[in-house]
Amino acid sequence: MMGQSEKLQKIAAEALEQGQVTMVLGWCKKDFWWQAPVAFITDPASAARLVWDPFTVYNPVKYLLDNHHCHEKIGVFVKGCDSRAVNRLLQDRRLEREKVVLFGVPCDGKTDAAKIKAAFPGRKISAVSRVDEKLLVDTDSGTETLPAAGYLLDKCQTCRHPNPVVYDVLAWEKVEPRPGVDDARFVRVAAVEQKELEERYAYWLRQFDRCLRCFACRNVCAACNCRTCIFDQAEPRWIGKASDLADTLNYQIIRAFHVAGRCFECGECERVCPADIPLQELNRKLIKDINEYFGEYEAGLDPNDKPPLGTYRGEDPAGFDES
Ligand code: SF4
Ligand code: SF4
Ligand code: SF4
Repeated sequence: MMGQSEKLQKIAAEALEQGQVTMVLGWCKKDFWWQAPVAFITDPASAARLVWDPFTVYNPVKYLLDNHHCHEKIGVFVKGCDSRAVNRLLQDRRLEREKVVLFGVPCDGKTDAAKIKAAFPGRKISAVSRVDEKLLVDTDSGTETLPAAGYLLDKCQTCRHPNPVVYDVLAWEKVEPRPGVDDARFVRVAAVEQKELEERYAYWLRQFDRCLRCFACRNVCAACNCRTCIFDQAEPRWIGKASDLADTLNYQIIRAFHVAGRCFECGECERVCPADIPLQELNRKLIKDINEYFGEYEAGLDPNDKPPLGTYRGEDPAGFDES
């Protein structure tokens, strides 16, 4: 029976051979067992590099911003979260639908390498693979088996859309969302909300004090797709270059508000943050408030809708002063 990686390879090779696309974005294996970075495949023979494994978490969609001008048509493999990024770019008019062929990949949740490493202290791990609901971990003293559900990335534990919401071809059968994801979605937000105002402020100051302003959270985010980000502008300068908490707060507040109503909850900003800042608590607080003030809304599900903060209706609770 054809394995999942082989299925992706076949889809990509055929699309390139038949001239449907001139490049395919998927995932490949490189130097480390815990990484499966984005691969840029331009000839059918190289499609054999593509993999689907526990670490194919990276979102290839943002790379379309850099590449879609140079290619007639690009094929891109999309998990549920990646597909919502496609809708985000379509909604923001940063991508044309006819420029991409979407290969949908129903997603069983991706593995947190840090949790695997913590499970085998002092042991050398050479490979991790997944068979159904089990992880097989090759270590220097033999192969160990772990339950996949216990080692998922945090973002995958609260994923409501593991199946692509937009696609042209589906690689395999759709999967069921994990039980309890709806209940888990705002649990961390509620915990912060319970703090008194001053305690909450102190909590966020402690978090943001660790921020390096590396901009990884911005760079990875498909909702952050302005042609010129205000933080890259030389004139006017919105934040200084020195390490300064006031400037960091400025950055964090602006980032959070620029994605309000547009964040599609992929959790990538939090996952890539080298300082472990709980950015999803902020993103989801804004989502929760938007749901309460403007009605339930999930970003990235429909390229034709309008985000709540991108429109004004007469019945909106905050008035619109026309004087
Ligand atoms: S967030 Fe959902 S679609 Fe994305 S990698 Fe995790 S389980 Fe898969
Ligand atoms: S990824 Fe983390 S450390 Fe880097 S700018 Fe964002 S919040 Fe700060
Ligand atoms: S703000 Fe974070 S969770 Fe939201 S879309 Fe951007 S990367 Fe994903």
